[in-house]
Amino acid sequence: MKLLQDLDFNELTREVIDGGFPKYRADQLNDMRLRNRDYSEANNLPKAVKDYFSARYAARSVRILETVRGKDAEKYLFLLNDGNIVEGVFMPHNYGNSLCISTQVGCRMGCVFCASGLNGLIRDLSAGEMAGEVLAVNALKGGTPSDRVINNIVLMGSGEPLDNYDNVVKFLKMITDPKGLNFGARNIALSTSGLSEKIRKLADEKIGVVLSVSLHAPTDEQRSALMPVNRSNPISEVMAAADYYFEKTGRRIIVEYALTEQNSDDESIKKLIKLLKGRCLHVNLINLNYVKERGMNGLGRKRVERIAKMLNAAGIGATLRRSMGNDIEGACGQLRNKYLSEKSGGENGI
Ligand code: SAH
Ligand code: SF4
Repeated sequence: MKLLQDLDFNELTREVIDGGFPKYRADQLNDMRLRNRDYSEANNLPKAVKDYFSARYAARSVRILETVRGKDAEKYLFLLNDGNIVEGVFMPHNYGNSLCISTQVGCRMGCVFCASGLNGLIRDLSAGEMAGEVLAVNALKGGTPSDRVINNIVLMGSGEPLDNYDNVVKFLKMITDPKGLNFGARNIALSTSGLSEKIRKLADEKIGVVLSVSLHAPTDEQRSALMPVNRSNPISEVMAAADYYFEKTGRRIIVEYALTEQNSDDESIKKLIKLLKGRCLHVNLINLNYVKERGMNGLGRKRVERIAKMLNAAGIGATLRRSMGNDIEGACGQLRNKYLSEKSGGENGI
């Protein structure tokens, strides 16, 4: 069945008019879906409207199947209408609450350190499914459309957002729309493994979300060994696209660098400094999170601090991203996809 949360406000209004209902019903349906409510919970809607829409559209796109509480983060298992499951993570910070959402079931980029791509790409999420992740958590935590509990959204869960370009852009437009959740673009960060053409296209959309580029290595040889996507999107093209994004949007680029043995010796960091110097960007160092199937490790604390110091001394802003959700497999690169078997009701580890 189609999803009500997949419609932008204009499309919703068109549906209301086509159904022969007065236009203001669109605002009521919109309020219902922004509160992540079902038709039965919308007391202001007459039966005729409920019958018409419930026959055509599911009111909610995702259901929270399970909440896993960790010491500094909370992970959710979102059940999609076809039985697929994606994960998201809620992180309270002193500057506001962030929600990390997934953009695809699985991922086809095959980075060697990441759990999200272990089963390849299963399917893209629709715009309404991404919105559903935000709406479900906001409602669960007692937020409303005008008084949100979520302040920042990061597209850093499973999936490569720019490999699902059209749906992600529609989601970004809906979630920043005053008729949507009215997020400021500066409160949304999109992380990409570096699809350079799509980075340029996103710059031209003029939405202006914060762009995070997963670099993870200073040379093409090292990067291709960690991230196969580098073979078709070499570092020079990714950096040129990031420069273009900055020119067009004025948003400082975030470079993500996950520290592990293969990319953290002094020689590599010197090359990294040479590559990044003079650009308007900030480096987020992430100590590589352990993924059991991948068998790669991060570095000791002292080495991480030393690398941050080397970058700072060269005039490159770099901070160590506090790894949240480690204890619940909810940190960067640890999110997975699952499938809820209809027959067994959960043979896939649920
Ligand atoms: N596909 C996008 C966004 C999701 S991954 C991307 O790759 O950018 C979010 C971030 O987590 C990326 O920077 C990714 O490189 C990083 N990441 C993946 N696996 C990781 C791991 N095991 N430890 C630390 N960071 C990891
Ligand atoms: Fe996909 Fe990002 Fe994981 Fe790479 S790091 S496999 S692009 S989710």
